[in-house]
Amino acid sequence: MMDDKLKRREFLKNAGMIGSGMVLAGLPTLSFSALGDGKPAVLGGTKAYTGSAISWPIYDNREGKALLDVLQSSRWGRLTGSVTQQFEREYANLLGVNHALGVSSGTAALTAIMGALDVGPGDEVIIPVYTFIATYNVVVLNHALPIFVDTDLESSQIDATKVDAAITRNTRAMMPVHLGGTPVDLDKFKEISQRTGVPIVEDACQAHMAEWRGSKVGNHGLAGAFSFQSSKNLNSGEGGAVVTNDPNFFRACTSFHHQVQEGIDKSYRDRVGTRSTNLRITEFQSSLLLAQMTRLEDQARRRHENAMYLDSMLKDIPGIVPAKLYEGTTMSAYHIFMFRYLKEHFDGLDREQFIGALAAEGLVCGRGYGPMNKSEYVQALASNKHYLKIYGKRRMKQWLESSECPQNDILVSEQAVWLMQNTLLGMRRDMEQIAEAIKRIHKYASEIKQAI
Ligand SMILES: *Cc1c(COP(=O)(O)O)cnc(C)c1O
Repeated sequence: MMDDKLKRREFLKNAGMIGSGMVLAGLPTLSFSALGDGKPAVLGGTKAYTGSAISWPIYDNREGKALLDVLQSSRWGRLTGSVTQQFEREYANLLGVNHALGVSSGTAALTAIMGALDVGPGDEVIIPVYTFIATYNVVVLNHALPIFVDTDLESSQIDATKVDAAITRNTRAMMPVHLGGTPVDLDKFKEISQRTGVPIVEDACQAHMAEWRGSKVGNHGLAGAFSFQSSKNLNSGEGGAVVTNDPNFFRACTSFHHQVQEGIDKSYRDRVGTRSTNLRITEFQSSLLLAQMTRLEDQARRRHENAMYLDSMLKDIPGIVPAKLYEGTTMSAYHIFMFRYLKEHFDGLDREQFIGALAAEGLVCGRGYGPMNKSEYVQALASNKHYLKIYGKRRMKQWLESSECPQNDILVSEQAVWLMQNTLLGMRRDMEQIAEAIKRIHKYASEIKQAI
């Protein structure tokens, strides 16, 4: 399957080269660009990026056999099988954490953690404003109040220096997100947690294998949540895991995710209260994860190496600012390669035009998340009847006002550009072509601006 795709890609690449050669012969004036010497594709040059944005997911017979084995065993659910337990052992070993619990999604992992913390009405949970909406949703599903913290423009991560100001006596947890797979400033979070007693929940849904000071993320607070949804660096279609080093908390999460069928004792009732649900993973998902894990370390290394190389090249282009890694980062998962685009260095060419010009070069980029705090969906919380009943009109008005995040507004409205993880699975030469594509656009920015 993959082989066929690769062959087709090679064919297309060669066909493209022949094509440009023919243009060259017919129109010698184009030879400058056809030699790869600089004219952007959007102005009629040849594409800078011929690279192989690796199609995702990657699989072979390993996955086929794993799934078939579960099918033919007739043990399809975790209550009848043992594949999930094997996955949990191996994932915990890989992360160097004491306990891992497989669940049905990343959202389910966060939900189990919220449940085991007994987060409920009147509680506040601190989250970054720059994240996938699931981080917000799990808080609101418990009728707790999500407290937004603004973004550090240099890293695109939650600004840890602004967390203290967000803590009140109602704060139940801080839920930083290792966005794009890069760790937040965990030293700062740990210091706050020790001083205030507020536990850290790591939303590590994008950060498989990322490390802070040599220790994998998910290890640095009370618990961590991972997602195995199809776009993530470890993929079983849907799926997730809770990891923790606290045996009691692990038991509480396990019970919560399995209709209180385990560990129903006084300490559980005191901690979790009286709620629980079904968030179980299937044996099919766990078997896929075990197969995918045979590739995970190699892929993680390749993404990291390619990202470092790309980072070193992009840094030299004025107006391109790759997201900073905090000093304690020993490994980023690079689920997303995030950089800021500063149009003042590109003759005012705006971000949409820049992304369009990159698409013409053959490179697909995203513009990242929108301003979550300003979305209609989030703003409607201030007038939600349950929230008005729990928190009162004044508090909800105040909540809305204090949800302003001016740094994030700048990032999302005009600067953020994202490259996804599969682009980073390419070759070193692909990274050089990405840098070349951006350099061309930089050089010809004013012409592009007039042309499109
Ligand atoms: C993907 C993701 C989630 C949710 O994971 P699902 O498996 O899709 O439920 C939560 N938080 C972040 C930051 C994510 O990227």
